[in-house]
Amino acid sequence: MQLSSAGVVANEVRLELKLEVAGEELVVTGSVAAEWTGPCRRCLEPQAGETLIDIREIFEKRPVEGETYRLDENEVDLELMVREAVLLHLPVAPLCGEDCLGPDPDRFPATVAADPDPTELSSAPAGDPRWGALDALKFEDPSS
Ligand SMILES: [Zn+2]
Repeated sequence: MQLSSAGVVANEVRLELKLEVAGEELVVTGSVAAEWTGPCRRCLEPQAGETLIDIREIFEKRPVEGETYRLDENEVDLELMVREAVLLHLPVAPLCGEDCLGPDPDRFPATVAADPDPTELSSAPAGDPRWGALDALKFEDPSS
């Protein structure tokens, strides 16, 4: 599967998913790992990395646009979900290093600003009401 977003290409996508039937719904949890390559946003040197994405999605016969995915009678198509998850989480502008000075530091000094922690972007915010139904389905409580 080849997915790309603004010069960043996911070359290999690995799925580790658990599918569970919950009533009329199919709950898919697990992770998607995407190995990507793309140019450093400052010096344009090729970069590579891996993005790990937490997956918690619901498939149902009548999907809610933008929230759940379509579940067919006898099969489930995971491709759209994987595609959206990867495109949403690929780094928009990779950086070879925090101290990258860019292609020509003398003429175009780069401002080294703090980047958002990429791990913060890869998980759904806790308490997202869309996952309310899913929270009730948790099988293990890490706090107990
Ligand atoms: Zn660079």
